[in-house]
This record gives sequence, structure tokens and C-alpha cells, in this order.
Amino acid sequence: PENPTVPRAEIVVDLDAVRHNVGRLREIASAERPVAMMTVVKADGYGHGMLPVARAAREAGAEWLGVATLDEALALRAGGDTGRVLCWLTVPGEDYAAAVAADVDLTAYSVAELDEIAAAVDGTPARVQVKVDTGLSRGGAARADWEAVLSRAAELEAAGTIRFTGLWSHLACADEPAHPANDAQESAFRDALALADRLGLAPEVVHLANSAAAVLRPSARFGLVRCGIASYGLDPAPGHTGDLGLRPAMTVRARLALTKPVGAGAGVSYGHTWVAPEDTTLGVVPVGYADGVLRHAGNAVSVWVDGVQRPVRGRVCMDQLVVDLGGELPPAGTEAVLFGPGDAGEPTAQEWAEACGTISYEIVSRVGGRMRRRHT
Ligand code: PLP
Repeated sequence: PENPTVPRAEIVVDLDAVRHNVGRLREIASAERPVAMMTVVKADGYGHGMLPVARAAREAGAEWLGVATLDEALALRAGGDTGRVLCWLTVPGEDYAAAVAADVDLTAYSVAELDEIAAAVDGTPARVQVKVDTGLSRGGAARADWEAVLSRAAELEAAGTIRFTGLWSHLACADEPAHPANDAQESAFRDALALADRLGLAPEVVHLANSAAAVLRPSARFGLVRCGIASYGLDPAPGHTGDLGLRPAMTVRARLALTKPVGAGAGVSYGHTWVAPEDTTLGVVPVGYADGVLRHAGNAVSVWVDGVQRPVRGRVCMDQLVVDLGGELPPAGTEAVLFGPGDAGEPTAQEWAEACGTISYEIVSRVGGRMRRRHT
């Protein structure tokens, strides 16, 4: 092997690509009017490493970082991030005092949540945004509760207990631009904005768009866009976007543990779900589902070896998977690229997603396990 220091398997993350993507998304989303950028770095930066990605996003000018959990927000602070951070998924009993002390923007869905946050305030007001459910039927205040939640936010703001820093919602079908739910949700969101205005609330930021809407739906951009998947260079709405000029940031590579010939009729991996129709050669790739390679990848995806895409044969095991080398017998230690940007002919995360019946989000956020991660 030309580089013997390469480990068994590694996830290589190109931070320059992340910086490029954040800048490119700002260009696209600010075509009519400048909007602020929130880079979504939850779930360990969609598998790319939360802290390095957060730093890269800040370097590229992201005013906000978005995370789901309070632990993630506090980890950003512990890692040295001092900018605006929005967190949107807390449960009763969370350490809201720590959130307030760390100057994290919290998201409230209910009066009870607002009151719990308020009870944790000791001096400095908490920064709080309200999320309204406009049709995703997931997190966010139910429409019947909008007035109560926003009224309580107004009272707490008047009392100096909170600062009402934002009003926002999330789309269900942004990756299907013609889906009628998009118009319906946007219209409902405008109703919530009007209600907040009637109650005397003036949110610092108003936001609805994820990556797909940031790219495809100018009317949903408001003052800020929350970009996750596209920040990592992956297509937020496959089939609807054309070339956005994004660069996939993640490459997953390994070294073959073994190559060997097998005869026609050899059954490969557990359950013999693939049987060699003729004599061939196999390569053992030392990664498996415990490293986050989906079991659905078995008999479905390809891996790039010596410039050729080679099919994965049989089931993905806990620690290894098997590729059909079609008669070639490269030495053990030869590089196998599972997926990457695709520039050299390797499969992409999007291709893996399609082959596995899932979305690129799941492919990149699941890889990890025992694989090393390296940022370039
Ligand atoms: N906003 C919220 C509330 C989210 O949960 C997510 C991620 O699912 C995003 C924005 C980013 O979405 P995307 O990765 O599609 O840009």
C-alpha cells in the first residue's frame, strides 16, 4: 500500500468542502435578499464530527448553529463555540439553568415548557424561541395552543424573564416542491407571524426553511435558513435541484483485509444469500454494521477498488463485508472506498441511499462505530 499509516477504516471529512457549501448555500438563499445562515450540526454533524464542522461553518460565516438536544448545545460551548446556538428538543426536567448560563437559544413548544424555562432564570433572561406546528405534526405548539403559548411568551418577555428571540416552524415535504403541504404550511406560518405581531411580539429571527426549502422555495426563506444536509454537500431534494455546486464532504474508506479466489457455487456470507455463479475472487472489507454500514447494503451497493466499482455480495456482517473482485486479486491492504464525492468514480452516499432504500442523511449519520474520523 502506498500509505501504510492508513488505518483499517476511516471516515475522511473535507472541511474545505463544508466551508464551500455553507458559502454556496448563503449565495443561493440570499439571491433576492440577504438571509442569515444556520448550519445544522446535530447528530455529530450528521456523522461528520460536530465540533470540526461547527468551526468550519463559523469560518464560512454561519451566524447560527442548530442542534436538537441540549447536550449537543452545551458540547458546542464546551468546545469553545461562542456564537448563537439554537436547540430544539428538550424534555421536562432538563438543565435549563445550564442552558441559560451558556447563552443557548432554547425552543419552547408549550406554556409548561416556557414556565419551566422561566423558573430556571436567575438574573439574565433566557433566550427563547417558539416553534409552532404548521403541519408536520411533530415538535411545535399545536395550532389550538398558539395563542396561549405566544401570550405567555409575551408576558415573560414583558417581565424581563425571557427574550423572545424567534418564531419558527419546520416543513414536512420541502424535498417535494410541488407537494401542497408546502403552501399550506407556509400559509399557516404566516398566520402565526400575524398572531405574534398582534400580541406585540417582535422575534429577532423568523425561520421555516431547511436545506431543500432554502434552495427551492424563496418564499420560505424569511430571515434565516436552517441548512443541514446540503452543508455536507448532499442533495437536499434529489431529482428536483439540478447542479447546486455543492461538494460532498465525507469519504469512507477501508483497507482490504484479505483477497482470495472462490469457485463457482461458493455461498458468500451468512445465509448464503449470494452464490458465485462462476469462479471469481473476493475481497474482505473490514467494516460492518457495527461500524454503521447498513445491513441493507448487502447485495445492494458497490465499493470502489483499484478504480472499479465492485458489488457487495451477501449479507453485511457485524465487522466485515465481502466484495466481488471479478477475478482480480489485488494484495491485502488495497484501498476500498465505500462512498465519497464521486469525483474519482467511487459511489456516492446518495447512490448508497438509493440502493439501500433510504436517504443520504441515514447513510452519513450512521457511519462511525469503530471507524476513525479524520478531518482534512
Ligand atoms: N431544522 C430542523 C428543525 C431539523 O430538524 C433539521 C434536520 O432534520 C433541519 C432544520 C435541517 O434539515 P436539512 O438537513 O434537510 O437541511
